[in-house]
Amino acid sequence: MQYDVDFLVIGTGIAGLTFALKVAEFGRVAIVTKKEAAETSTNYAQGGIASVFGRYDSFELHVRDTLESGSGLCKPDVVDMVVKDGPVRIQELMDWGVAFSRDHAGKLELDLGLEGGHSQKRIVHAGDFTGQAVERVLLERVGSHSNMGLFEDYIAVDLITYSTRMKRGVVTAAHEDLCCGAYVLATKTGEVHTFHARITVLATGGAGKVYLYTSNPDIATGDGMAMAYRAGALVANLEFVQFHPTCLYHPEAKNFLISEAVRGEGGVLIDYRGRAFMEDYDPKKDLACRDVVARAIDHELKKSGQDCVFLDITHQEHDFVRERFPNIYQKCLSFGIDMTSDPVPVVPAAHYMCGGVLVDMDGKTDIERLYAVGETACTGLHGANRLASNSLLEALVYAHRAAQQAVKDLGAMNGDVCRDLPPWDPMGTSDSDEAIVVSHNWEEIRRFMWNYVGVVRSNKRLLRARHRIETIQKEIREYYWDFKITSDLIELRNIAMVAELIVQSASLRKESRGLHYNIRYPQRDDKFWLKDTILRRPFVG
Ligand SMILES: Cc1cc2nc3c(=O)[nH]c(=O)nc-3n(C[C@H](O)[C@H](O)[C@H](O)COP(=O)(O)OP(=O)(O)OC[C@H]3O[C@@H](n4cnc5c(N)ncnc54)[C@H](O)[C@@H]3O)c2cc1C
Repeated sequence: MQYDVDFLVIGTGIAGLTFALKVAEFGRVAIVTKKEAAETSTNYAQGGIASVFGRYDSFELHVRDTLESGSGLCKPDVVDMVVKDGPVRIQELMDWGVAFSRDHAGKLELDLGLEGGHSQKRIVHAGDFTGQAVERVLLERVGSHSNMGLFEDYIAVDLITYSTRMKRGVVTAAHEDLCCGAYVLATKTGEVHTFHARITVLATGGAGKVYLYTSNPDIATGDGMAMAYRAGALVANLEFVQFHPTCLYHPEAKNFLISEAVRGEGGVLIDYRGRAFMEDYDPKKDLACRDVVARAIDHELKKSGQDCVFLDITHQEHDFVRERFPNIYQKCLSFGIDMTSDPVPVVPAAHYMCGGVLVDMDGKTDIERLYAVGETACTGLHGANRLASNSLLEALVYAHRAAQQAVKDLGAMNGDVCRDLPPWDPMGTSDSDEAIVVSHNWEEIRRFMWNYVGVVRSNKRLLRARHRIETIQKEIREYYWDFKITSDLIELRNIAMVAELIVQSASLRKESRGLHYNIRYPQRDDKFWLKDTILRRPFVG
């Protein structure tokens, strides 16, 4: 079946929904999402959204903190624009109905949290359910809009691209340069549909599932990055994977994050003997940037041979802890840990991708009519390391700008070169009876990425990872064309692709900067490496 729309939005997190809401009055919108609509990283965000509202804060300070965290690779004009747009975009969320927490005194001013790397209190939050509060309001608004169709359990397989150069009779050794929509698998029926769109937006989130331990939900398999790369778009800075220092360590707790805000409110990291160790690593101690804290924990664990360290906030007023962190408190309690009296066991886990599909200041990729917003994009805001709570902000600001630009682009289009799209070719027709191959490869990739391309890297480990991924990629390619596609197979193909790109990017960067740390080159090298790592799929004519 073929759907014809003006805007195809892939993903229902903060980026995709915000974009969709802003373009809906200008054209028909299809939003596809691979699980239930609320199953997004956005929905799990606890800490909040960084923006300048505080009496002692200023745009200059937020810009400065962001640049400092990005270790020389942030694009200053992008940082400036995002920081300055922040308050307006957050006000818009409040106008739409998001109830952010107010201060304890008058309940009038926004209650602003402090997080690692920020010099001021500037984290706008809704208790510790910020993402959920935002996601709920956005979904309610989408549900009440008549110009939008929401397709749940629809997973995008690949982008449909077209060559305008060939059309003009110019034969060049180059990629196709215009996007016409996407092939999308309806997972409940197994049918692949053609979504023909004048504008396509990747809002597919991050890729934490490439790693064995991650704070991300299962949807985070880097699909947008992999689809864009396969289509010939540029991707950048994929070596900069942020590891959140403090994921709950418990055999039954899957992906549960202990927010940065717990350290912001006085939580202290201690080892198994109860010794606070962050002062050995950074003058900012527990409020050092995430990469510093993650590496410190990694070092402590390797040194002690223990499985985890502990986050201790037992010295704080118990009522305050329960009120400030209701979600984290309840979750820990469900595992028998009362954080008002017990230190919480924690480990680092893959949390955020600073790199992604390379876009300009309006969220445009280098393929015409293809946009990327949110975590799947690389805008230049984060550089080599994201400042805490800047990602929801980036998603909001870029979804707004991309929507404005996309509406202009739509208005300027005359005719449609994308008509008569070929239907999906199912190729392999038999059902797979080898599901074990998929799960085995999936497990193997995640494990070797954790061991070889994790918090601390080395040339030898990267080389090992490269050999492993090459073998697995070959196996996946054979398997992919032989059998009917399933969502598991699509995701496996994508995590393998993103793993390969992370390994490639990390191998290219011969220095340590921000989130990328290679023991062979422990220093930052501004002479040669003050630049992005940009990759494009080689052209096969
Ligand atoms: C536990 C946790 C806590 C966090 N806390 C904070 C915080 O406090 N502050 C902050 O700024 N950031 C935080 N982050 C990061 C932030 O939440 C994310 O970067 C942000 O929500 C990403 O939004 P997004 O719209 O780009 O993607 P997401 O919200 O992840 O949404 C991605 C969407 O794309 C869909 N999708 C993916 N692939 C496909 C496909 N092939 N076909 C169809 N649909 C697809 C998914 O189903 C989903 O709907 C946190 C992240 C996590 C995991």
